[in-house]
Amino acid sequence: MSFLKVSEVTKQYDEENIALEKFSLQISKGGVVSMVGESGSGKSSLLRIIAGLEVQNSGVVHLGDQKILNPKQKLVPGYDEIQLIHQEYKLYPNSTVEENIARPLLLYDKLYQKERVEELLTLLSLQEHRAKKPRQLSGGQQQKVAIGRALSIEPEVLLLDEPFSSLDAIQKRELIEELKLIFDELDVTVVFVTHEVDDALLMSEELLIIQKGKLVQQGNVREIFRKPKNEYVAKLFGNLNEIPGEKKTFIRPSDLEVRKNDGYKAKVDKQQYLLHYNLLTVELEGEILKWKVEDTSRKYQVGDVLHLSFDPNYLIRFEE
Ligand code: ADP
Ligand code: MG
Repeated sequence: MSFLKVSEVTKQYDEENIALEKFSLQISKGGVVSMVGESGSGKSSLLRIIAGLEVQNSGVVHLGDQKILNPKQKLVPGYDEIQLIHQEYKLYPNSTVEENIARPLLLYDKLYQKERVEELLTLLSLQEHRAKKPRQLSGGQQQKVAIGRALSIEPEVLLLDEPFSSLDAIQKRELIEELKLIFDELDVTVVFVTHEVDDALLMSEELLIIQKGKLVQQGNVREIFRKPKNEYVAKLFGNLNEIPGEKKTFIRPSDLEVRKNDGYKAKVDKQQYLLHYNLLTVELEGEILKWKVEDTSRKYQVGDVLHLSFDPNYLIRFEE
């Protein structure tokens, strides 16, 4: 059953800037989904509208049976049930970790406050940092405190707008993996927004792909990887090699097999040493086309002649 429902939301800032165009979306309760889209595709606008922090031109957002009111319709914008965290999210600099997490609970019963803060410090493995000020924490720990604060009042929905972009790659990966385990355990519905597919997949196999203010594809990564709706979606997952003589038909470098004498004949034009393989740029014989090839054996050199074949089931075709 859908829990968070966005129906035909359009947001236009000015004549040139249409951030969202009849955007619709449904997410079930307790689900964790990742939303991927290039910069400027409308991700932040969407999250602000879902949170009731931005006025849309048309369309509605529902959380269960409740209609989300925008700042024009509600005296105090936003909802306790829907927490939005973004990269510039600020902690109180002069308060400790514990005080930061407790802040939204000030009006609650003292005993409950204490229990809830303990629960969150444990959940987020922040016990040993409880008395520290934000500046004494790493970037990743600061974001955990921000998430602890957002979770303190047990929101229904947590919206994460590229909150880890300022962290280094290792810190970011560890934090996303840790948070994924936590979110899977909680009943909270999470939308994690990022422009990087790698990060998205660490959080969730369920993906939403946004392009120019529209939801272009929603589903499991396996399905989206094999059957991307269009070139934009396909390219989020890496390079595409064009099949000569066939219109809008491609094969991924990771689906190519290098053989001795079978398939497309090609000559190595360039070789780059990358982390998991040598990336070869090859010239197809008799064509002006160049392909990318992932050489995990790292044995091919510039000038070598290869034969490239693939399982035709892995061809990607787009309608014209
Ligand atoms: P994303 O988060 O995917 O980068 P945004 O929602 O921030 O996308 O922006 C979508 C589009 O709306 C962009 O073209 C951006 O320039 C425009 N936009 C965003 N916020 C504003 C604003 N406050 N005023 C005018 N245009 C805006
Ligand atoms: Mg954004």
